[in-house]
This record gives sequence, structure tokens and C-alpha cells, in this order.
Amino acid sequence: MIKKILVANRGEIAIRVMRSCREMGIKSVAVFSEADRTSMHVRFADEAYFIGPSPSNESYLVIDKIIDVAKRSGADAIHPGYGFLSENAEFTERCKEEGIIFIGPSAHAINTMGDKITARKKMQKASVPVVPGTTEPITDLDDAVETIKKIGLPVMVKASAGGGGKGMRLVTEEKNIRSSVNAAKSEAKASFGDDAVYIEKYIDSPHHIEFQVLCDNHGNAIHLFERECSVQRRHQKVVEETPSPIMTDKVRMEMGAHAVAAAKAVNYSGAGTIEFIVDDDLNYYFLEMNTRLQVEHPITERVVGVDLVKEQIKIANNLPLDLKQEDLFQNGHAIEVRIYAEDPDNNFMPNPGKIKHITEPLGLGVRHDGYVYEGYEIPMHYDPMISKLICWAPTRNEAIDRMKRALYAYKITGVKTSIPFLHRIMDVPAFKEGKYNTHFIQDNSKYLDSTKEPKQKVKDVACIAAFVDYLNKYESTNGKSTESSQSLKPWKQYGRKISINRL
Ligand code: ADP
Repeated sequence: MIKKILVANRGEIAIRVMRSCREMGIKSVAVFSEADRTSMHVRFADEAYFIGPSPSNESYLVIDKIIDVAKRSGADAIHPGYGFLSENAEFTERCKEEGIIFIGPSAHAINTMGDKITARKKMQKASVPVVPGTTEPITDLDDAVETIKKIGLPVMVKASAGGGGKGMRLVTEEKNIRSSVNAAKSEAKASFGDDAVYIEKYIDSPHHIEFQVLCDNHGNAIHLFERECSVQRRHQKVVEETPSPIMTDKVRMEMGAHAVAAAKAVNYSGAGTIEFIVDDDLNYYFLEMNTRLQVEHPITERVVGVDLVKEQIKIANNLPLDLKQEDLFQNGHAIEVRIYAEDPDNNFMPNPGKIKHITEPLGLGVRHDGYVYEGYEIPMHYDPMISKLICWAPTRNEAIDRMKRALYAYKITGVKTSIPFLHRIMDVPAFKEGKYNTHFIQDNSKYLDSTKEPKQKVKDVACIAAFVDYLNKYESTNGKSTESSQSLKPWKQYGRKISINRL
């Protein structure tokens, strides 16, 4: 049985994994770069090892360094978290060679699902619906034009090695086909070192809905229902919720069964996510599989009542799943928002810096997975996500109200954060009604764009002007305004004194 786990990650996810380790009586080992000397995950672990300079390609991404720490610390397993080495087949293989358990799927599953063209072929074979399009890489531009004309515009040109929304182009007009294919190819080459691209029909009014799966090494596989992730900015998730407001029981069961079939098709082991794109009529198509724990996993944990990290560790220990599909159900509603150190009023520019003050939200139904503290300097080298706020309530409306309450209570100074933007999302009518798709943010800019509402400073100046005007009138009547100070009740007089002092 696993006794010590090296967490090959940093920030909130490293801490989240270590929490489950502690509950299971498993020792945890942290690794940290130069920029992360003062990071919370280093303090949280039972042991911590320095692995070099701040850039991740000189520390968190260097397989040799991670393996070396695993050996020196006597860790018998490695949990990769998400990002960094979590979907790196070479790393998985290396762990195997060194006799260290990799908490995740096999290199075969990672490779098959990591290449979107290969995955599409595999899914077609397993009778899982895929988005109509090509199953071979586009090599010739003339062929691309012909193929796209046959599929019919609009289409998505997508990088086979894609991830994080990179190497993807929407093509709506014939004249843009060549330039879009070229642009997707060069972005794919630059980001992934592989310029293979393919074509998918563009799904109108798209919803991104994904299914959590768990598979053991004994042929058991289950799904833990869906997560609705359609609130996106530049193809990146901003808010996630479960259950999906558009889902029906019938489609949920069908999609769940397809998700399980998709995972089984690659002999999957551990926790994974099958992403689907869904239209307004609930036609659904396989998009891709993420062969790791997702950022948004806590909403599933809350609604289904399962600790996914513990399940990952049990599966890595070769234990059979003790969860049965028929025993699982969704209890209530959970929403997660991602808090970033970025300025929503300045085109979401990353805003790393020192946290001067932080008050984390607490209370019934609130989970906060973070890692920053007062005085902590957010490094510029990594993803600027500070934390995830997860709110649960028996109903969706109550979960939204609870999220608003928690966001209101969440105070961070020193760096700009996405909190005000997330707050505005909760108030958008389409979100409240659960009627939204991946165009939500662009379609609702009138509610979300802060420049379209009076800024707080402007409101403050208006207040001051009104107050000065009031004082002037008061003086011009020699203190005999319509409301003399003598006639004011003591509390009102006190209140005005305070207002004057504040001014
Ligand atoms: P990545 O791996 O880069 O995240 P995905 O294939 O998961 O790329 O797609 C990311 C997002 O792009 C989806 O959630 C969806 O919003 C949009 N998208 C991708 N493919 C399509 C499509 N065929 N039609 C409409 N939207 C799409």
C-alpha cells in the first residue's frame, strides 16, 4: 500500500491532494522552485525538496528532478495534479521503469487521448458520437478548402495535439479558409511542436458538458455525472456547475454510458473526464478526454459525495472500486468560480504581486481551495489562478445566492482579482435562468463589462458633489436650511458628522 506520495505540482492543487493524503495517513512530499520557496504547499507537506529555478521547464517539468526527489524521499507514488507533467506519457513510463506508482492512467491511454485525431478514430470505433469532420490531418490547403466546403461552413480548425484553447480557429467564410488553416498550424507548431490540424463542424449554440469517470484496474468503470462548463473566456472555463441546467435524466444516462464506453476503449485507469459539445437540442458529441484530475473536480465531489483524490489513490493501490453506479446520485447543486490574479477591467491582464490582505469566505456550503496568504507574493512564472470558490446548496437558486454572499465576503487587496467580474456573472439574467452557452460572456457584455456601468469612483464623486451642494445651500440660508441642525434627530446629526469626517 502507498505510504508516501510526492505531489509533482504547486499551489492550490498540491495542497488539495495533500489534504486527502493526510486523511488517509499517507505522508506527502512537496517539490518547489526558486519562486515557490514561500509557497503554502511547501509548508503544508510533511517534507519539501528544492528542484531549481523558477521557470517550470527548469523545475516542475524536469522529469529527472522529480524522479530524483521521489527516490531520495522514499516516496512510493507520484500524484501529478493537473497541468505540468500530468498528461505526459513519457513521465508515466519513466515512473514505471523506476518502480514508482504514477497516480493516473497508462502511457497508452494518455497518448491515445492526447492526440485528438487518434482519439476521434478510437471513439468512432467505440460508437461514441464525435463531432462530424475529418479523421486525418490536413496536409494540403486545396484539399482543406474542398473538405470544408463538403462539411459546410462554419467549421473549427483544431490542433490534434491541442489544449488550453490553443491552435483552434473558427472559420465562417470561404475566403478565410487558407489563412485560418495556416494560422492554426503555426500556433499548433509553436505551442505543441506538432502542426497536425483537423476539421470539425462548428456546433451552433454550443454547450460544454463533461462527465467525470472513475475506472479501476479490474474492469470496473463508473461515471459521476456531468459538469456544465459553458461559461468560458477564450475557450477557457470561468464558472462550472453541476447538475447542468439544460440536462434531462434520459440524456444524462445516455451520455454517462458513452463516457464510460469512451474510457473503457482505452483501458482507462483512475479519474478522467470526457468532454462533450452539446447543442440546444441536446445532441452531443465527444470533444476530448482529459486524462487527469480537473480543476473543477470539487463540484462533483460536493454533489456526488465522493473524494476523487482518495479514489485515485485507492485505484493506484490496485483496489477495486467500491462505488456502484446504481448507488450514486446527485445531491443538490454546486457552482465553482475560478479566482485569478488578473484585472477584469483591463482586458484580464495578469496582475501578479503581493497579497496585502485576504479574508476568505466561510460558512455553510462554502469550500475554498486556495494557497495564498497575507504577505505572499504571487509569482509571475505560473498560472495566475489564486483559488477556487465552490458553493453548494439544495437548489440552484440558493447556490447562486450563496455564491454571491461568498464573493461579497471574499476580500483581497494588493492584487487585482476576477472577483468583481464573477460577481457580475451571478447577476446576469441568462445565467440566473440557466439559459446560456459558450457565447455567454460575449453575449452579455452589457452586464459584464464594468466600463459600461458607472465606476465606483464616479459614484463617489457624485456623492461628494451632492453633499457639497447641500452644505452650500445650508450656509447660504445662514444655517436656516429647510432642515436646521437643531431639528435633526441626534443619530442623523451623528451620521452627517461621520460623512463630513470621511470627506
Ligand atoms: P482544448 O483542448 O484546447 O481546450 P477543446 O476541444 O476542449 O479544446 O475545445 C475548447 C472549447 O472550444 C470548447 O469547450 C468549446 O467552447 C469550443 N469548441 C471546440 N470545438 C468546437 C466545435 N466543434 N464547435 C463549437 N465549439 C467548439
